[in-house]
Amino acid sequence: MTTLQDCRARDAADPLRALRDLFTIPPGVIYLDGNSLGVMPAAAPARIAAAVTEEWGTQLIRAWNASGWFDLPQRLGDRLARLVGAQPGELVCTDSTSVNLFKVLSAALKIAGEDAPQRRLVVSERSNFPTDLYIAEGLCRERGYTLQLVDEPGQIAAVLPDTAVLMLTHVNYRTGAMHDMAAVSAAAHAAGALAVWDLAHSAGAVPVDLNGGGADFAVGCGYKYLNGGPGAPAFVWVHPRHAQRFWQPLSGWWGHAAPFAFTPDYQPAPGIARYLCGTQPILSLTGLECGLDTVLAAEPLGGMAALRSKSLALTDQFIALVEERCAGHGLELVTPRDHAARGSQVCLSRTEGAYAIVQALIARGVIGDYRAGDSQAAPGRPQAAGLPSGDGPGLPGPGGAGLPDILRFGFTPLYLGFEDVWNSVEHLRDVLVTEEWRRPEFNARHAVT
Ligand SMILES: *Cc1c(COP(=O)(O)O)cnc(C)c1O
Repeated sequence: MTTLQDCRARDAADPLRALRDLFTIPPGVIYLDGNSLGVMPAAAPARIAAAVTEEWGTQLIRAWNASGWFDLPQRLGDRLARLVGAQPGELVCTDSTSVNLFKVLSAALKIAGEDAPQRRLVVSERSNFPTDLYIAEGLCRERGYTLQLVDEPGQIAAVLPDTAVLMLTHVNYRTGAMHDMAAVSAAAHAAGALAVWDLAHSAGAVPVDLNGGGADFAVGCGYKYLNGGPGAPAFVWVHPRHAQRFWQPLSGWWGHAAPFAFTPDYQPAPGIARYLCGTQPILSLTGLECGLDTVLAAEPLGGMAALRSKSLALTDQFIALVEERCAGHGLELVTPRDHAARGSQVCLSRTEGAYAIVQALIARGVIGDYRAGDSQAAPGRPQAAGLPSGDGPGLPGPGGAGLPDILRFGFTPLYLGFEDVWNSVEHLRDVLVTEEWRRPEFNARHAVT
């Protein structure tokens, strides 16, 4: 049996413990939602204020040169590249994940259209984050491709021979399950398909090796484990073998080879810079820079490998404590136990009260979140082509995979400790034992869950 004292001892022995001081964590809060919006870096208010008052306020337009605004997307990209197995010059921080996905999926379809025009499928998982599926659906409609959604990763192999682009999210946003990027990319390539990866729940959370893992294109999010602030710019990476090959479709002036030549024709910049579109959001990029600083501060302490081993220790501890202390309360573990198949979050399902339990926890300062299963899904959701599921004939119905309501807990090893894990499980236990979650105020729905 684990005790509170054990957890405190693990915190005392944790070489990453001091990194917590890089953040402003509100008193009384245990923050288990860094997979949705990371905690504010303590340096962010002063740094962003300086960008406003000194750079914007006094340098004005001169700041594009004097304060390095102009190449900020590239400079941040070079720093972020180290966290995802990319080389400097291969990655830029810009736009949103959704917009970047549109760019890379367009480019991938263009390459596939030239190299393998008979392939007409874009393949993804039904459980992928909706914006990824919506972007793919829109592009497929425009380009005459079919979006094929699988319910299980095991169904991918069967469709690869007709697949132009395999578009997956590395760590699933609902379940925390992680793909083996190298193995899946290799299978895609062996079958003649391109591999596009979304690293929204991976960058800053788990070690990623884009070059070593054989990815073709990748995008990722700045405001989750990278702590870049609400709506922080995302990132986009293209393998050097593709970077020069096609224009991405949003051929704006910031992706031009010489934007200040003001020529009437478009000439793409060499390499990844062509994936920029318009004038960049400097204040938001400044927030992202503060967030990147927090993750890169782990480098002298072992970097992503050290963050990963702490993250696994935290999620293992959470799973063990939930099973010890909340047994008999109807919680089911959704996240894989296998380390190689787990990201940095733990999801639990419960047939009743998942939303209200999360609300009761939030009222106690334990901030996780809730993701609705099929029973709560909005009607009229667009249906892409489905595959027969393994356990029955015909196509899956709306929602398809029988997804349960989920309580979702993200573990950012930069600012969470083992005592936080202990305390969050004690609150969860209290909420269940006392049935506090049945109170009406915890059952009223908010717009953002
Ligand atoms: C969070 C997340 C996004 C967010 O996209 P935005 O364009 O920032 O809204 C996209 N895809 C996945 C897989 C995510 O987890």
